[in-house]
Amino acid sequence: MKRAHNFNAGPAALPLEVLEKAQSELTNFNNTGMSVMELSHRSKEYEEVHNETIDLLKELIRIPEEYDVLFLQGGASLQFAMIPMNFLREGQTANYILSGSWSEKALKEAKLLGETKIGGSSKEDNYTYIPNEIDVSDDDAYVHITSNNTIFGTQWQDFHIETKAPLIADMSSDILSRPLPIEKFSLIYAGAQKNLGPSGVTVVIMKKELHEKTPENLPTLLKYSTHADKNSLYHTPPTFAIYMLNLVLKWVKENGGPEGIEQRNKEKAELLYDVIDRSNGFYIGHAEKESRSNMNVTFNLQSETLNQRFLEEAKEKGFVGLNGHRSVGGCRASIYNAVTKESCEALRDFMIDFQNKNQ
Ligand SMILES: *Cc1c(COP(=O)(O)O)cnc(C)c1O
Repeated sequence: MKRAHNFNAGPAALPLEVLEKAQSELTNFNNTGMSVMELSHRSKEYEEVHNETIDLLKELIRIPEEYDVLFLQGGASLQFAMIPMNFLREGQTANYILSGSWSEKALKEAKLLGETKIGGSSKEDNYTYIPNEIDVSDDDAYVHITSNNTIFGTQWQDFHIETKAPLIADMSSDILSRPLPIEKFSLIYAGAQKNLGPSGVTVVIMKKELHEKTPENLPTLLKYSTHADKNSLYHTPPTFAIYMLNLVLKWVKENGGPEGIEQRNKEKAELLYDVIDRSNGFYIGHAEKESRSNMNVTFNLQSETLNQRFLEEAKEKGFVGLNGHRSVGGCRASIYNAVTKESCEALRDFMIDFQNKNQ
């Protein structure tokens, strides 16, 4: 069996071991005579999967007691709206740090619901770096950041924000890619389909004290407290996606946890950034060096013609998903946790070869 060199931005590569495990128990999960998809979400067998998945997240991210771990639906995009619905009250201002398209989308939803401000932005420079100058106040309703900018290929290296206001982060494209100072954050969220599993489940990790801010008159399903009070079983959760998340978390644990994964991710990213840096300008990285993402490597060649030739040849050679996002063009290699070092080495070799033939 030939597996693709999968550099898709999301949904993205999953570990082969995880897919094989899921395949092996697809029609008969734990001697139930049923697929995990066919189990009642109220059954003992499913509840075990559900609770074990929460425990694995708590263990791997070292989540303290005062946080809830929730499994929601609607993707990161629904979180863009739920956050201001739950935490932005009249007379308050929510502070958004803009570091790319996803932060803009988060801000757009908040603007529909209340007062906002922009406490930092690199938009003027086409989001080539993480904003350095950041203006936050302890009175902000909350401060929102995007920890990894999937489209532009930048990533917060340290979280250089000091505030007493709740810090909220969209970690959709780098959750569990490295150890995380979780105590700094009041809420983090991530759609699963980049680093955690298939699409369909959104992980939210939030301080319990935040529930107090939620207004009574919100629709039931849009209140975080509804899901927290019922252990994310208020209504039918995406059971198969949560089961896949469970297997991915076990894979992360077997591969050294966040520390081990981080080490591997650094090595993978270095392979590609090295080619860019040694190419004498043949490959032009989008991100400034100190803001480079270890998850999404974004670059251009010297002309649109060369970009297209590169992408076509890469495709012929079996590399999938290297086109830049439709809003920025160019090339992007998404190298999330499950993308193998072998795939990155193969891409490095192809990039060097392509340069030798085309410069
Ligand atoms: C992919 C992505 C999203 C969108 O996620 P959906 O689950 O499709 O809503 C939001 N934020 C970031 C940082 C992303 O990478």
